Amino acid sequence: LVKDLDRYLPDGCVVAVLTLLAQLNIDLRISRPRVTKLGDYRPPLRHKRHRISVNSGLNKYSFFITLIHEIAHARVWDKYRNKVSPHGLEWKREYQILMTPYLEKDFFPENLKQVLTTHMLNPRAGHFSDPQLVKALSKYDSEQTLLEELPEGAIFAIRGGRVFRKGPLQRTRYKCQSTENKKWYLIHKLTPIQSIEARF
Ligand SMILES: [Zn+2]
Repeated sequence: LVKDLDRYLPDGCVVAVLTLLAQLNIDLRISRPRVTKLGDYRPPLRHKRHRISVNSGLNKYSFFITLIHEIAHARVWDKYRNKVSPHGLEWKREYQILMTPYLEKDFFPENLKQVLTTHMLNPRAGHFSDPQLVKALSKYDSEQTLLEELPEGAIFAIRGGRVFRKGPLQRTRYKCQSTENKKWYLIHKLTPIQSIEARF
């Protein structure tokens, strides 16, 4: 498991993570990518052990943050069972306690560390509801380019292969024109770009 888990995690944490999983009696499963969630936690009811699953296909930092989020649920269960709300104060506190040592050393790249430090002051149920964190994390998705990084007028494709020309920003979305049907669409500025035509 050490060798396996090491592939999914940032350098220098696998021993600490495995120790935590063993201490808390957690079974970890790495699941196929799910669109509805990055990970989940199940308490030890019928099974004697906590169960956590985390999606494969996440970058190392997203994987780590998701895993720590779920481990915090296990610690809350051990202390409070189901007497507290899933992402309430008790969970926030456990999540902060688990994450703090990693924010104090050079574990995360500087930019991500800053964004995550702010995020951890009041973490929410899904860290993907924090656009700053999404943006900081997306940098590690195999060098992904985001729509907002392209110049206006750029021709680009999104997942699924639809092709657009980038237009002006409207709040958090860019007006983009389909090169196929010439209609305009609003596409979120943090959308990852699949491929870009070199001429703008
Ligand atoms: Zn949760």
